[in-house]
Formats: sequence, structure tokens, C-alpha cells
Amino acid sequence: MEQQAKQYRKIIQLTFSPENSGLPVMCHVVRAYDVTYNIVAAQTTLGKEGYLTVEMWGDDDKCRAALQYLREQGIIITPACSHVSRDDTSCMHCGMCIAVCPVSALTIECASRLVLFDEEKCTACGMCTRICPVKAMHAEMIANGVSIGARA
Ligand code: SF4
Ligand code: SF4
Repeated sequence: MEQQAKQYRKIIQLTFSPENSGLPVMCHVVRAYDVTYNIVAAQTTLGKEGYLTVEMWGDDDKCRAALQYLREQGIIITPACSHVSRDDTSCMHCGMCIAVCPVSALTIECASRLVLFDEEKCTACGMCTRICPVKAMHAEMIANGVSIGARA
């Protein structure tokens, strides 16, 4: 059976300097690395420092190569999701989030069949917020160091 390529999906902030603010870098990463992205927040002006908060996804190797390309252009890349929490009253312990968590912060307790969320282990990648059918996982979004609200 053919093995599925590892996928990447993360919300990141790109910080541009006045020198690189006009570079068409996002067009390049889409074409050259087959990366897909969604703009979450943006504040860019040609010739001035600015930022772009994007959710980026695609093949893991290609996304990492795209991020390396962005760094080489002098763009600073930082995580844009500061904190992920769970609304325990909404969670129905279906277990769907367990499979997408890359660091095993979501696990099933065998005896009770309850899904446990370990906030200490969570790296706030945001993957579980996309898959939860009842939107129990909430991501606190930051842009330019400032909270821009939660996203389920
Ligand atoms: S996917 Fe949502 S409802 Fe299901 S176990 Fe995870 S947090 Fe709970
Ligand atoms: S946000 Fe945290 S709990 Fe959710 S998939 Fe990422 S690391 Fe796991």
C-alpha cells in the first residue's frame, strides 16, 4: 500500500522589514512549493515594516522548504497561535482530534474512554481546531504580538 506523505498545517506570522516588504514571496511559495495558504490577518505597506498572519498547509517537506526560502529572503517567521484550550463542556470525547495531534497532547484514557488534553504538551499548532466536529478546541490567535481573538 502506498504511504501517504506527511502533511504540514500551521498558523504562522511573517514579519517583513522595510527592505523586503514588496517582495512577491507568497506568489513564489505557491508556485514553487505547491503550498496553500489563507490570510488570517495582515498589515503591510510597501517600504515599511509589516506582518502577514497566514495558515499554511501542504506536503510537509515542501512547506518546510518554502519556510526556508522565506527565511532566506529575510522574513522572520514566528508561531501565530499562542495558546490552545478545550471547552470541556462541548467535548463529546469522539477522539477525532487524537489522530491529528503531532505531539500526543490528546490521548484516550483506556479505563474511562475519555479524551484527555495535556496543555503542557500542546505546541499550539492548531491542527485539532480544524477537525473537531463541535468546535471544542479554541486557538488564541496573535498578530504582531497582540491577541486578535479566539478561533475554533
Ligand atoms: S475532536 Fe473535539 S469533541 Fe472530539 S474528542 Fe477532540 S475535542 Fe473532543
Ligand atoms: S493544538 Fe495542541 S492539542 Fe491541538 S493538535 Fe496541536 S499540539 Fe495537539
